Amino acid sequence: MKNCLFCKIIDGSIPSKKAYEDEKILAFYDINPQAPVHILVIPKEHIGSADEIDEKNSATISYIFEKIPVIAKNAGITNGYRIISNCGDDACQSVHHLHFHILGGAQLADKMA
Ligand code: 5GP
Ligand code: ZN
Repeated sequence: MKNCLFCKIIDGSIPSKKAYEDEKILAFYDINPQAPVHILVIPKEHIGSADEIDEKNSATISYIFEKIPVIAKNAGITNGYRIISNCGDDACQSVHHLHFHILGGAQLADKMA
């Protein structure tokens, strides 16, 4: 989608440090990490947020969750991680292309909000 930051990362017009890529999804390191390991996992298909998940695209979401353990392990996370998807304004979603944050590599705060 035009003017979508993460679509530009997918097409390579904006560079990223990749953690995993295949024909359906891309995982790359967050530019402003909130944990020692902070990876964003995105579908290559533009989906605006978790609020746009439906019966037509849910197989891609399932596929992302199939790959998250592989991505986390390959990134060196050994003792657990947090998966976050900010959805909409109250959750402070800043990039409107669905993404799942993987945060790990240290003990995380016990509060999420
Ligand atoms: P959100 O706030 O929408 O949940 O998360 C967006 C994330 O994208 C933020 O953690 C932010 O640091 C990250 N981000 C924004 N722009 C870029 C960029 O150009 N490259 C990378 N790698 N991450 C970005
Ligand atoms: Zn997009």
